[in-house]
Amino acid sequence: MAERMAARLSAQEEQIEALSREIHSLQDGLTGGFDFSTLASGPSLDELRAENEKLQYRLLHLRRSLREEQQLEENNQKQKTSKPEQNTQKSQNKNEEQKDKSRAKQNAAPSRSSASDVQEKNKKKEKVKAEMNQWPVFVSERLQLYERLKKESDALLAERAAGGRSISVQLPDGQTVTATAWVSSPYQLACAISQSLANSCVIARVNGELWDLDRPLEADCSLELLRFDHEDAQAVYWHSSAHVLGEAMEQFYGGCLCYGPPIENGFYYDMFLDAQKGVSSTEFGDLENLCKSIMKDKQPFERLEISKETLLEMFKYNKFKCRILNEKVSTPTTTVYRCGPLIDLCRGPHVRHTGKIKALKIYKNSSTYWEGRSDMETLQRIYGISFPDSKMLKEWERFQEEAKNRDHRKIGKDQELFFFHDLSPGSCFFLPRGAYIYNTLAEFIREEYNRRGFQEVASPNIYNSKLWETSGHWQHYSENMFSFPVEQDVFALKPMNCPGHCLMFGHRPRSWRELPLRLADFGVLHRNELSGTLTGLTRVRRFQQDDAHIFCTMDQIESEMKGCLDFLRCVYDVFGFSFQLHLSTRPEKFLGDIAVWNQAEKQLENSLNEFGEPWKLNPGDGAFYGPKIDIKIKDAIGRYHQCATIQLDFQLPIRFNLTYVGKDGDDKGRPVIIHRAILGSVERMIAILTENYAGKWPLWLSPRQVMLVPVNLSLEEYAKQVCKRFVEAGFMADADLDSGCLLNKKIRNAQLAQYNFILVVGEKERAANSVNVRTRDNKVHGELSVEEVMERLTLLRQSRCRSAEEDF
Ligand SMILES: [Zn+2]
Ligand SMILES: [Zn+2]
Repeated sequence: MAERMAARLSAQEEQIEALSREIHSLQDGLTGGFDFSTLASGPSLDELRAENEKLQYRLLHLRRSLREEQQLEENNQKQKTSKPEQNTQKSQNKNEEQKDKSRAKQNAAPSRSSASDVQEKNKKKEKVKAEMNQWPVFVSERLQLYERLKKESDALLAERAAGGRSISVQLPDGQTVTATAWVSSPYQLACAISQSLANSCVIARVNGELWDLDRPLEADCSLELLRFDHEDAQAVYWHSSAHVLGEAMEQFYGGCLCYGPPIENGFYYDMFLDAQKGVSSTEFGDLENLCKSIMKDKQPFERLEISKETLLEMFKYNKFKCRILNEKVSTPTTTVYRCGPLIDLCRGPHVRHTGKIKALKIYKNSSTYWEGRSDMETLQRIYGISFPDSKMLKEWERFQEEAKNRDHRKIGKDQELFFFHDLSPGSCFFLPRGAYIYNTLAEFIREEYNRRGFQEVASPNIYNSKLWETSGHWQHYSENMFSFPVEQDVFALKPMNCPGHCLMFGHRPRSWRELPLRLADFGVLHRNELSGTLTGLTRVRRFQQDDAHIFCTMDQIESEMKGCLDFLRCVYDVFGFSFQLHLSTRPEKFLGDIAVWNQAEKQLENSLNEFGEPWKLNPGDGAFYGPKIDIKIKDAIGRYHQCATIQLDFQLPIRFNLTYVGKDGDDKGRPVIIHRAILGSVERMIAILTENYAGKWPLWLSPRQVMLVPVNLSLEEYAKQVCKRFVEAGFMADADLDSGCLLNKKIRNAQLAQYNFILVVGEKERAANSVNVRTRDNKVHGELSVEEVMERLTLLRQSRCRSAEEDF
């Protein structure tokens, strides 16, 4: 790593020197002969290096543009009638509907306009695009090859269309319509239903397969039309937007495009740039403008099937696309898609044309590796998001801003809850106020354990690897475990509590009378996550869970599941989360007896039905060792998080040979284990709660519950005395004794720090042994005796209500 860094640094230094010489020779006199060699090291040089890298890159780009402009001019002089391809492509009809009709008729080459029209457009655009409007040389070569192949393909299609027989197309409502094979497209059929449907649908699904709206149907089929609100359509929409971004990136940076997939939040495109060039966020505006002009052009997405051999020729300039062809494509042919000058290796499908993308934003860039492998090339990744309506983009931006303000890493710092240190990455330091939240959550669950027949245990943190061999972790999970030699053996830190609990169950004979046995454990767990993947409290190396294992008989599964579901509803109600339930059933590769699986799944289903909340089935999504129920909670801004799991396990009892003596005296009874957690990782739950409440903690969880504010210096003693009483009663209470601060300022500060209750004390209050109560939202409850306030706050804390400030 260090070597690579050093090599990179020295390469950069060479470049900087070369650049500095260049600047001198180019702009002698203008720079005042600044001597770069006088700066040896330090932050200013680093800044300069970064700046220079960008400058150098800019220079390269300018040179390339210049060279190509010269070339273009030469070509123009030679053959005045022939125009570069990419520009003719840009002239499009303004009226979309008109164009749609004409395209349906033509079905062949994209529309062309007259040479003079093109020339005029070129002139206009020349100014706008200035330095960046020239494509790399490979673009025209690629386009030439494409054009030839497209002609052949169109001829073939025309032939097929001429003999097109009548086919029947089934719509989702059961209706059947007649169409013509190799002629009728989903878009045409949509138009026949309604123009507004045709305009709003993003993609078609033909016989269950996503299908371009303009791709002719080939045989009898079923047809669905999907709008943007459909998950699959959204993926197609964002994937299509990635092509627009790719086209702009190719034009702007001239690098080699790699992968451009849709993601949860939009899409990205990866690009390889030579000579360690980078991408700067200052370029986003230019890139966005390029994207917008591509969108305005309404470039159609054309699909073309080509042989692998020809594709290797077409993409010979791009070793990454060749890699994909050689490593990923096993069929003799595959497809490319064209929009404007971009021809991209892609299975599709896409929206009809780039004009379908109405609003687009580039929001992030990062560097990454080819296929995420650190031994491969470094790539530049640019992220974008797009919508069919600019209002939706505004809404998304607002949401991002909101999420940013709620970021638990930010609030954790502002409220002094926790921090991380380089000397123990992924293991959080909880400061006193953070530890209060941590322990209060554990206390909450402990109280429930007592009510619900769970017994808390404490178990070791390190185990001989023999245990992990028995449990199977050594074979399947050792990469994620911290292990180390101890005397003659290898030990490892536990990543889970279950194997230890199996030892507990098995350490003496067990009777059916003891079942269900519910063992709970807040044991500290360690998992060796890669340092690059660690993020705040959501991905850590050290954590605790509200973990419990229920050892029960097959017949007890249903009632135990009901208990688990009731438990989680109780906890999530307190937090104010709604949730979604999914039942994941037997996967294709499973272990054990199919009859046992069926019996268990039936019981899970019964318990879910009786629970009364809606649930969904994820067929085949269970673990190989048992079915499970996944629970996703929904937070205050509508995001879903997976926290709780209820997982059945038929295999672990077998691996540890766990048995119990049944009613009939048979000592070979095999228990089932239910792994379950409701908070899941306490660390992660704190992240979710912090963001859910945006740092405005409900009283019972709040790390700042009470602030005593004396009106003047003479009342400090009284304030301290009352504060002490609250602290002794277990409250997170403070007194503001900063005499340099005025009363109103003190109250305001306490409110901003999210103290739930602010107790102001003056002469009158001291005399009456009372306080004057107001809340962080500035609701004034007035003067009450200290006893009364203590009593009310204690009750509110016990009830864990979310609106203590109102209910007081
Ligand atoms: Zn694509
Ligand atoms: Zn477990």
